[in-house]
Order: sequence, then C-alpha cells, then structure tokens
Amino acid sequence: MSVHKPSFIENIAEKLQLIPRLHDKGFAELPSLTEPGKLTDYPPPEKWDDWVEYEAKSGQKREKRNYMIVPTTCFNCEAGCGLLSYIDKDTLKVRKFEGNPYHPGSRGRNCAKGPATINQINDTDRILYPLRRKGKRGGGEWEQVSWDDVLDDIAAKIRTALQEDRRNEVVYHVGRPGHEGFMDRILQAWGVDGHNSHTNICSAGARFGYAIWQGFDRPSPDHANADFILLISAHLESGHYFNPHAQRIIEGMMNGAKLAVMDTRLSNTASMADYWMATYPGSEAAVLLAMANIIIRERLFNEKFLRDWVNWRDSLAALNPGAAVTFDNFIAELEKLYSEYTPEFAEAESGVAAETIVDVARRIGRAGTRFSCHNWRSAGSGNLGGWAVARCLHFLSVLTGSVGTVGGTLPSAWNKFKPASYNTPPAQRFWNELHFPLEYPLAHYEMSFLLPHFLKEGRGKLAVYFTRVFNPVWTYPDGFSWIEALSDESKIGLHVALTPTWNETAYFADYVLPMGMASERHDLTSYETHSGMWISFRQPILREAARRMGRETTFTYETNPGEVWEEDEFWFELSWRIDPDGSLGIRNHFISPYREGEKITIDEYYRYIFEHTKGLPEKAAEEGLTALDYMRKYGAFEVEESVFEKNMDLAPETHLADAEIDAEHAEIRKNGATIAPIVDGKARVGFNTPSKRQELFSKTTVEWGWPEYAVPTYVKSHIHPENLDASKGEIVLVPTFRLPTLIHTRSGNAKWLNEISNRNPLWMHTSDAEQWGIKTGDLVRVSTEIGYFVNRAWVTEGMRPRVVACSHHIGRWRREQDAENNRWSTNQVSIDEVEPGKWKMRVVEGIGAYKSDDPDTSRIFWTDGGVHQNITFPVHPDPISGMHCWHQKVTVEKAHPEDKYGDVFVDTEKSFAVYKEWLALTRSAPGPNGLRRPLWLGRPLRPAEETFYVDRPK
Ligand code: SF4
Repeated sequence: MSVHKPSFIENIAEKLQLIPRLHDKGFAELPSLTEPGKLTDYPPPEKWDDWVEYEAKSGQKREKRNYMIVPTTCFNCEAGCGLLSYIDKDTLKVRKFEGNPYHPGSRGRNCAKGPATINQINDTDRILYPLRRKGKRGGGEWEQVSWDDVLDDIAAKIRTALQEDRRNEVVYHVGRPGHEGFMDRILQAWGVDGHNSHTNICSAGARFGYAIWQGFDRPSPDHANADFILLISAHLESGHYFNPHAQRIIEGMMNGAKLAVMDTRLSNTASMADYWMATYPGSEAAVLLAMANIIIRERLFNEKFLRDWVNWRDSLAALNPGAAVTFDNFIAELEKLYSEYTPEFAEAESGVAAETIVDVARRIGRAGTRFSCHNWRSAGSGNLGGWAVARCLHFLSVLTGSVGTVGGTLPSAWNKFKPASYNTPPAQRFWNELHFPLEYPLAHYEMSFLLPHFLKEGRGKLAVYFTRVFNPVWTYPDGFSWIEALSDESKIGLHVALTPTWNETAYFADYVLPMGMASERHDLTSYETHSGMWISFRQPILREAARRMGRETTFTYETNPGEVWEEDEFWFELSWRIDPDGSLGIRNHFISPYREGEKITIDEYYRYIFEHTKGLPEKAAEEGLTALDYMRKYGAFEVEESVFEKNMDLAPETHLADAEIDAEHAEIRKNGATIAPIVDGKARVGFNTPSKRQELFSKTTVEWGWPEYAVPTYVKSHIHPENLDASKGEIVLVPTFRLPTLIHTRSGNAKWLNEISNRNPLWMHTSDAEQWGIKTGDLVRVSTEIGYFVNRAWVTEGMRPRVVACSHHIGRWRREQDAENNRWSTNQVSIDEVEPGKWKMRVVEGIGAYKSDDPDTSRIFWTDGGVHQNITFPVHPDPISGMHCWHQKVTVEKAHPEDKYGDVFVDTEKSFAVYKEWLALTRSAPGPNGLRRPLWLGRPLRPAEETFYVDRPK
C-alpha cells in the first residue's frame, strides 16, 4: 500500500482549517487507489472491466463510480498515442480519457490534446446526423437525411462515372490520415486514381529531401539513445509526433545528450536547448553544409559507413570523371566540393555565429553513430528549395554513419507496420493529371493545393469529390480560390464532406457526413515514434462496451452519439452499393474471408489483420484471447522492439538467382540494374534507391532536368534577402509555427484547448517594432502578394529581427448563415465579393459566452478568435518537390483607419497570376524513356507501371 504524504500546500491548508485534517491519527496512512510498482499510475488491466473511482465532485461523501476502461487511439494528430476511456457503467457516458500505458509509442503519456477528446465528443455544437444541402451550395441551409439515402445517391453517381470511364473524376481528398492501407484498398477496388492528400502543404518538401538520398521519405530518430540531437523546428514542443518524440528527447537529454535547435523563433523547444540557432528562414541548408564541411575537413566522418553505404564510386565518376576511382580521391573531391560552405559564409547567410556552427559540427562529428536529427515541416515546408534542408541534414547523418543506428536516425519505413490484406485489388490503370501533372514529375505527393487553379484552367472536373477530415478553405493557402471552385457545380459535381466537426470547407458541401472522433471509429495506426514497430487500434468505445455487456452491434452509428458513423463501415457499404450486381468487379474485394460470398464485416476485417500480425496471436494466446480480443482489450501491440540497421539484412536468395556479381562496384546486378549491395562480403537489402545505397550524387535530379542539384546543395529561398525589395520594406513572415495545444481544424471544438490558446498575434522583434512605431497589442496590417490581414502585434526579443511570425492554428470562422459551431474558436464573419475576384472578410462578432447544455459555454471569458492568415497567401509550388512554400514576403505597417482586427482582403486574380509565375519555374516530363516520373520514386496509390509512360499504348 502506498502512503500519501501531505504536500506543503496541504499542510498549510490543514493548519488554516481550509480542508479537514487528513493526516491526524487514523489518516496517517491514506491508501492510494493504485497499487505500487510498474505502471502504478494506471489501473491494472484485470480491473478494466470494473474499475472503481471516487466521484471528484462528491468531496468527503466519497461516492463511488464504477467504470469500464476501454482503450482507443488519439485522433488529434498523426502520432496516434494511446488513450484509455473511462465509461461510467451506470450511465454509459464517457467520463474521461487518459493515457494507455500499454501503447509502445506514447507509453501512457499524452499531450493536452489527448485528454481533450472528451471535449470533442461532448461538444454541444457537433454534427450528429447526415446532412444534405438545401438551396444553393454554400447557402448554409441543410436537411437531415438517412444514411441509406446518402449511400444510394453517392453510389449511383460513382457507378455512373465508372461505367462512363470517367474514373479520374472520383476523388478522395484526405486531410488527417491514420488508417493503415485502408483507403488504398477502397480506391483500387473502384479502379480510380483518386487519392489526393494534404501532404504537399505539409511535409512533401522534407520527404523529397530524404527520398532522393535513400528512397525512404521519412526520418525516424532514435532520440532516446542519442548523444547529440539536432532539430530543425520546435520539435520537442510542438513538432512532428511531438509527445512521443518529446519524451524520448528528454530521456536522451537526461542521459547526457546535448540538444541543438534551429528555429527563427525562441520556441519552448529552443528555450530548452543547449544551442538555439536563430537562422534566417531558408538559410538552414547553408549552415548544415558548413557543418558538413567541418566534419569532412576535420576527418570526423565515419569512413566505413561512407565506403560501404554511399554511392561514392558513381559520385566520384560524376564529380571528377578523370580521377582514379579510389575512396581517397572521393574524399578529396568531397572536401573540394563543400569547401565553399565556410562557417563564415553560413554566418553571413543565417546570422548564426561561425563559432557556434563549428562547435555544433564538432559535437555532431564526435557523436558519430549516435547523432539523431529531424526536419519535417518547418524549413522543409517554408522555402523554395526547402527539400534541400532535409537533404543537407541527412548528409550529416550519412557523414557520421548514423543512418539506421542505435541513437541515430532510421528510415521510418522500418518502423511502419503493413497490415495483411485478405484481398488485394489490382493497381489502377489510370493516371490522374489533376494530381500528378506533367509539369511536376518529381512532385513528392499530389499537387493538391493547385486543384482550384487546375479546375479554373479547364484541366478537368470532378464528379464526386470526398473531403475527409480536410479543410482546404481554411488550412490551405489561397482559400478564396477554393471557395470559388467549391461553389461552382460545373467544376465539382458532388462534394461530400466526411468530418467529425463543422469546418469552413464543409460549408460548401452537398453532403456533410458526421464521422466519429477518436473514440467513435475503427482505424489501425502505426507510426515511427521511436526505434520500434507498433500497431494501435482505434475503436468505437461504446460499441466495445456494449459488446462486453453482451450486446452486438451491426453498425457503429448504433452506439455512437446521434447517428455519427465511421468511415470503414461507410466505405464498405458504399462500395457494395456502387456495384449492386457485382458486374463492376468491386464487390469481389469486399467478401468476408471467413464466410463465403458474404459481405465482410468490420470485425472480420480487423480479425484478419490481427490474426496475421507477427507475434500477436501468440501473445494473445498467453492470456487465452483471440488476436482481435487482445487488441480490443489493450488497444496496442509492439510488433518489433527495435528495427535498427535493416539495410544490413541479407538479400533474399530467390532475389539473387541469375544475377551477376560486380566486384568493382561491390554490388549484385540483374538485367542491368543493381539489386543488392555487397557489404562485409554479403549481399544486403540496402536502401530503396537505384544504387541500393545512399545517393550523394543523384542521377535522377540530373536526368530530370536539374543538374545543378546533383549533390546536396544550398538552394536560396524565394524569401532570401536577394529576393526581397528592401525599398518597399519587404520582410519575411514565417506562418508555419505550431501551438502545442491546437491542431489545425479539429481542436476547434475542444474547450480546454481553446481556453489555453485563443489568439495568434504577430510576433515581431523589439527593434522592428520600434522602427515601425508599434507596441504590443497595436493593430497592424500585414500585406502579402495577393491581399492583407489585420492582426495585433506581439513585441518580443524571442524573434529574429526582420522576420515576423504568426501561428497558423487560429482564426477560425463561420458566417451568419452557417450552423452555429465550434463556438469556442470561431469568429462570426461577413464575406463579400466586393468586385469579381476581390474578397473581403470582416469579423462581425468575436467569441463570447452562450447558453447550452454545457455550463462551461456560459463561462467563456475570451473574446478573441484570432486571424485567418493562410487565406491571404498565394500558392507557391516548389518546382521540384511540389511542396507549397509557406513563407511569405510581406510588408508590415500600422493598421489603416478603416481596418478592424481580423480583416482579410484577397484578390484571387492576383493569386492566379502568382500560380502562373511559379508554374513557369517547372521543368516538365517526359523524362528518360518517356516517363512521367522516375519509376523508382514512390508515389501514393501507385498505379500500374504502364501508366508511368506519357505515350503508353491505349
Ligand atoms: S501527441 Fe497529443 S494530439 Fe498527438 S496523438 Fe499524442 S496525445 Fe494525441
């Protein structure tokens, strides 16, 4: 029994008789409600079916409540942390969410957004029933309809499009994914090239930088075991996977690791770091290459890794064709190549002192294989050539040999679980040029943010357009161009918004279909939170509670609030109805693996996956459970504890049959292609590149028209000082920074989170503010290339001079005609098209208290809903990675007399002109052999190989 020791405050409170004396005789050994030992802060699983806690509000009456504890997975960011829900057994109400200690990624810990799931499910403004538009699109009038009507109508429209071979007109556009492999199956079963995602406004830049090195496009740092950690961004505080990563960064630091952060802004992460490098935005690659220069010059590199795992022979042959092919010559060439990146050059570009750059470089070199690093959005998503930041960062991993090592940085694919498929539809035989146009052959993901412009240019149209937890009107740049496109029924025939909550894009839908929050749906998630591989089961907890109480359910909406459904079942039902007689060959892919000829159920779908997950059936059997029941009970499973150095795995024997050994290049070749590198005398699986090694020299960039980027290079950003007009007062706006308590659209209905963060002022350095005559709280007008927004200033020393920054999480809105929604976070605004293409938004009413079933709505004390900045940005597609380059050239001035806080103005004709300017930077396909895109480079929802050729035979 653990003993409660009175805290200092409790002692004082007892002495002042503010609370009863709990520590007198008889209370001295107040028992804790949990047993001591491992996982002591969590109820033991054997008690999860009937867990007793005292009602917090009952005070000394100590009323008991009996709970059923059901695990699920957080849906508030990609990290997929585990949650335990507490369901009151008397009322079947969910009372709270806490961390799931059995989740290998989050290990029982969550950020504020995890427990705030309770706010989202209890939101009194949420959408509870399927809605169909009445009146004109965007008019704000809706009627409730049945799921049957919804399914029949959408299915008929898709069926017609498929029968008429308009397969590229059916598109699924995903905002928040988190659903391993599920949608690929659906879309390939339909035979459409219909996957579109938000990735090119998010992470495509960094992904391309990693992919061009190693084929794998995401890094997975092993921070916990690192000696030195380098983060590009506020990663620990608010970056990618920040809770699972943050806890491991802290572990690493507690074990002596040093932390360096490159960030223009003094983020919470930077404030915790040993080195804060406040780089000028876009200069990061210059600093990284200066560090590479030091590591090369001072011979701090890992020679064995470079010899074994870098395509150094090809690199040398390309860089100096006359040189004898020796490793020493390669190093000499490398030294020469990067000698121009001196610390002084990097200081001039970035503003970071040369001595700091040298110091950090030496520490990285000494950390060797225990150097971990990460760049995801941040600089990779802000700049023209942002992909080069990730490429140059990974160069440091390559030089130190810390690729895939303990304490190093792994390719994320090694951590990623691939679910078994009971039935795999064939790859589609279509290529959707609205997603992968010829101008962007290397675009790492779909050019989704150009869709309104493509539609405007007449490149195509959409018959059925699904938006899934996706809000481009608000999240994307150029939201008014989205409003124009979504309002035009000749461009988008049917817009179906699948969403757990109202959003600015759903206002312009034909159907708004309520899909479950984290605790109201099934999904399977697996992410690269650390060096292991895990799966996490998102499950509808009330359905599971009903099952445990002996009540079986056909569809999840039977147990969810109202008729809130979930996508898995929705897609099964929709697919079934698209092909009522089986003649389209779609139904075949939705037959139960357990009951011949019958439609698959959701339980069977997951049962099959879990029964085919390595080690899971055995682990479940130890407790006398099926694999599915094990996942229902624990919510997560560790598939592999660690996945280091998978490049060293032996190449499969079958693969090597009829292959030749190329001893000079230390590789195995077949039909002219490298299939395995030879390392330590054995054929290995290597990496996912044409050479199967890390590619310093990239033949791909040369062959596809970018010879200037054949090796890791510093690319000057569109907001480099050379590209700003100082005479006009142009400076840089960094609009990408995140708040750790909010997440784009989905946290808008979480009251606790909005209570914490509810404004997004413009950060500016004291010296700039003085020059502009601006004080904290003053109204400022920030003008972009296509319009302006009006915000308040926040003057701080924690910002680099001549750069301003604004968080992109705030500034939500609804119009008068829209359903009242997300009132914790949305301003009511008026939107007027004052002239064709000229849009004005003005806040009519800020946030305020209101009456509802939740007494907290009458306690709202904040009035500020923030400012919608993204809508004033034009599109900036990077001509190589396809990434939208978020940073903006802006001017900042005191607000004009007519300006009001929250005002926005945009000219969409100007935004179309900026789109054309950036389009002109591209170098189009076809590439070698008439290809649209290199065959080796990944592509989401990969179509049949024949479609990769521009002039494929019909
Ligand atoms: S980091 Fe926070 S929001 Fe993201 S999954 Fe974990 S608990 Fe949820």
